[in-house]
Amino acid sequence: MNVHHLPMEFIIIAAGLFGAAAGSFLHVCIWRIPRETSIVTPASRTPCCDVSIRWYDNIPILSYCILLGRCRYCRSSISLRYLIYEIVTALLFAGIVYKFGISLTTLLYLIMTMNLIVASGIDWDHQYIPDFLSLPMIPAALVVAALVQWTGMFPQALVQNIRQAIVGCVVGGGIIWGIRIIGAWVFQQEAMGFGDVKLMAFMGGFLGWDETLLCIFLASLLGSCVGIGLKMAGKIDKYGRIPFGPYLCAGAYLCLLFGPEIIQWYTNPLFSP
Ligand SMILES: [Zn+2]
Repeated sequence: MNVHHLPMEFIIIAAGLFGAAAGSFLHVCIWRIPRETSIVTPASRTPCCDVSIRWYDNIPILSYCILLGRCRYCRSSISLRYLIYEIVTALLFAGIVYKFGISLTTLLYLIMTMNLIVASGIDWDHQYIPDFLSLPMIPAALVVAALVQWTGMFPQALVQNIRQAIVGCVVGGGIIWGIRIIGAWVFQQEAMGFGDVKLMAFMGGFLGWDETLLCIFLASLLGSCVGIGLKMAGKIDKYGRIPFGPYLCAGAYLCLLFGPEIIQWYTNPLFSP
């Protein structure tokens, strides 16, 4: 059976289910990686009453709804985080599959999406991004660009040759590094971590310089909106810090999906000043 003959709705629903399961696993990664425990063993136990979780209570999204958000054993409420990560990952996976169909580009961008979710989650909770999520992805971006250039693999990828990947890395890392230096000078405190520099260098290698600029612009826009919202709700900690990584990741994801369309729209002579 040729998968390309399956109806698109079916493929997208399958991608969503797969994404929900992946989101469940990514949530475990986000919880365990900063605590330096294995992401595979031991099997999950309830954080409230330390009972090992049965498979039927571990079905993404569904279990949370069936249990009405409460532990089967002690009835204490289960963190909404589980549900949020599962739903968000399901939606992000469905978006990639909708755009790129069943292809190697989809596989590549799903891996990148998972990386972005884990980096965002850890940055959100702990204000740092583990190096192993960003640094190995820089050479990986160059390898992908080389494969596109020389073998025609990943024909839908944003970056089509090694030069674009290198320029993207330098522009992405360079801009965030610049903001970091200027921010430290203006505010006399660390405005942006070095983790963001490495993160944006890696993403730049996959986005190319033009999408990188768009990514940073979208991240600033999203970050400002959320920052103002949190400030008004009085939810910013006493240092006034909000991690920037999740917004850069959200910007990068939006660029993967809509980047060329946004840039085309913006540079259309009918719309631009
Ligand atoms: Zn419990």
